[in-house]
Amino acid sequence: MNPCPPTLSIVCPMHDEAAALDAFFARLLPVLQASGESFEIVCINDGSRDATLQQLRALQPTLPGLRVIDLARNFGKEAALTCGLDHALGAAVIPIDADLQDPPELIPEMLRLWRSGFEVVLPQRVDRSSDGLLKRKTADWFYRLNNRISDAPLPVNVGDFRLMDRKVVDAVKRLPESHRFMKGLFAWVGFRQATIPYTRAPRSAGRTKFSGWRLWNLAIEGITSFSTAPLRIWTYLGSLVALVAFAYALFIIGRTLVLGSDLPGYASLITVVLFLGGVQLIGLGVIGEYLGRLYGEAKGRPVYIVREQFDSSDHAA
Ligand code: UDP
Ligand code: MG
Repeated sequence: MNPCPPTLSIVCPMHDEAAALDAFFARLLPVLQASGESFEIVCINDGSRDATLQQLRALQPTLPGLRVIDLARNFGKEAALTCGLDHALGAAVIPIDADLQDPPELIPEMLRLWRSGFEVVLPQRVDRSSDGLLKRKTADWFYRLNNRISDAPLPVNVGDFRLMDRKVVDAVKRLPESHRFMKGLFAWVGFRQATIPYTRAPRSAGRTKFSGWRLWNLAIEGITSFSTAPLRIWTYLGSLVALVAFAYALFIIGRTLVLGSDLPGYASLITVVLFLGGVQLIGLGVIGEYLGRLYGEAKGRPVYIVREQFDSSDHAA
């Protein structure tokens, strides 16, 4: 390994990206070489079932700055990204997706802003028309809800693609949680930020690894990682329901005193019982969500396991 670290580390988590690899390097390399900075490209093979690893290995002899880290199985993008940040050596680090949805052409501008003193440079998607309507809408709702209740507001329409100074990377590495919602962790550490608007392109090849269900889970991960509002809301909801129940009891008592007793209201009774049962189950579910996270953290398992690391002897100039 080169004793002197490179200026720039590109970190790319890859899961089944064999079809996208050639196009990715074909666009990334000219940009990096033209920048005149020393660089390394850290590729994390996140349990690909296709030839991603073999192709990366085959590229290494011709690409001195390429480092390949092979994870023991698919740990998910957040874990793969964590692994990449742990291994990156550069003074500036840029995580990027392999599918060219994050345009490498922005890198020179990111470097320029970094040189001018910004510790975080955020490319911001101004046009998400490459995403479907449903994804855009749900993403929009997520950001709104999250930023209302979370203690680390997320910059809107910003992904993991960003430049981070070494200080920022070291700060993120110090956050010990094993549930890693990277965007949230990046936002939580702060630092001086600049944004660059860009238009997000569609995927170059292959298909997205984030189904609706996976995105939903990521959203829950994001909110529960940075907010306890979902837990607290039950105190207020409980108080409200109790208050309404109390008022209703007073009303019943009053009515019985005035009009005498009768036996109507089976329907309203069963409705109230079922409604309250439902409310309690939801409340329990939310508590379970946090308890589960606590359990996960208490186990203290590593975020990822490396099977093998293939470092090239040198980084590119
Ligand atoms: N990825 C990964 N592990 C996974 C899923 C995805 O490393 O389990 C990588 C993937 O190879 C890509 C990046 O994360 O480089 C973003 O994935 P994708 O393009 O599928 O997500 P989208 O852009 O649709 O949100
Ligand atoms: Mg993508």
